[in-house]
Amino acid sequence: MVTVPQADSILQKNSVSCPSLRVPLSAATGCVLREHVVADRDLPPFDRATMDGIAVNSASFLKGVRQFPVEGLQKAGAPALSLKSRNACLEIATGAVLPKGCDCVIPVEYVEMDGRAAKVRDEFKARPMFNVHRKGSDARKGDILLRAGCRLSAAQIAVAAAVGKSRILVSKTPEVAVVGTGDELVEINRPVKPFQIRRSNTCALAAGLALSGYTRVKRFHIRDDQKRLRAGLKKILAKYDVVILSGGVSMGKLDFVPRVLKQLGVTVLFHKIRQRPGGPLLFGKTSDGKPVFGLPGNPVSTQICFYRYVLPYLNRANGLVPGAAWYVALSEPVTVKTASTHFLPVTITSAKDGRLNAAPVFPRNSGDFVSLTKSDGFIELPTETFRLPKRSVQRFYGWVNIS
Ligand code: AMP
Ligand code: MG
Repeated sequence: MVTVPQADSILQKNSVSCPSLRVPLSAATGCVLREHVVADRDLPPFDRATMDGIAVNSASFLKGVRQFPVEGLQKAGAPALSLKSRNACLEIATGAVLPKGCDCVIPVEYVEMDGRAAKVRDEFKARPMFNVHRKGSDARKGDILLRAGCRLSAAQIAVAAAVGKSRILVSKTPEVAVVGTGDELVEINRPVKPFQIRRSNTCALAAGLALSGYTRVKRFHIRDDQKRLRAGLKKILAKYDVVILSGGVSMGKLDFVPRVLKQLGVTVLFHKIRQRPGGPLLFGKTSDGKPVFGLPGNPVSTQICFYRYVLPYLNRANGLVPGAAWYVALSEPVTVKTASTHFLPVTITSAKDGRLNAAPVFPRNSGDFVSLTKSDGFIELPTETFRLPKRSVQRFYGWVNIS
């Protein structure tokens, strides 16, 4: 039996690291970046018009010129033209390079075309570099734009694309086996007898993995039979990088998982945590260093253990630099009866003062996974705290990965 901080430290000390591989940028969405992405040139790479309108020399406007003969059109994607007369202008498109001799773009809304001249309305106030996105103002050539360890979401993909990273180094996600155990469990497309239940845990685990970018996942199921478990797990442990078991890890007569893992050479690094739910959680490593998790089968325990321990472990293996922890305020007092660490599902609402309020969703017991659909995640209540007052602030773990 370990405490929650001890379990965290054992998991941390026994981290693994996934290999990296270079993939086309189009295949990198949601992956963890494993190299720094550097600006190959200034961003923006040239003084860029931010409005459609006319490009002028602001000094002429400030001296009182309001009518500018049009010398031509500066299109986006064309090299910079040169303004011939200081008191003239060039029509210009958003995204075009600022023409030589111009330092200000007057938006089309302030301009009336009068034959071949542009007349500017009096209310326009010109100043140098107005409506110009200066070269290098966002980043300089050589600046690190993305650091290794970030997840590639749309904003990061845009930056990588902008610097010409058509291929990019990312983590190779592990091949994960999700293994359910239990004689009472039936595959979800099969007829189910009144005394049987469907294999929801392994579906939930595969879904939680997929939502965090772990898509190389295979589901298995093994009956509560020591021989079958040993034979099945032997093959699975040899083939997969990570094994996540559900069920068979508690004190029951047919809970064979801990002893079979030991028989197969797995070193059990902890079994049982002083926490509720999910106390029977097991973590071990195969002789060749592969991580094995044995999650208690009660569905609330399974999901909480997965989000609290397994997912952060995999994210660390993947090289993800964790985001800041989230904290929420309890919307009502909470009392617990035991000295364990408690994980309590909550629904989050955002208050007008910017605070996130957490309303407890008390599952009737660890089998009540229907109640989880009404929650956004769970809070962690520290050990030896029996009564938490309303508005006390607690660490929050979301069902949706926000880092
Ligand atoms: P166990 O940890 O094997 O003692 O299982 C505890 C409870 O969780 C039992 O009621 C099981 O039927 C249930 N359970 C175990 N595995 C699953 C699963 N894959 N899907 C749904 N419920 C499960
Ligand atoms: Mg069982």
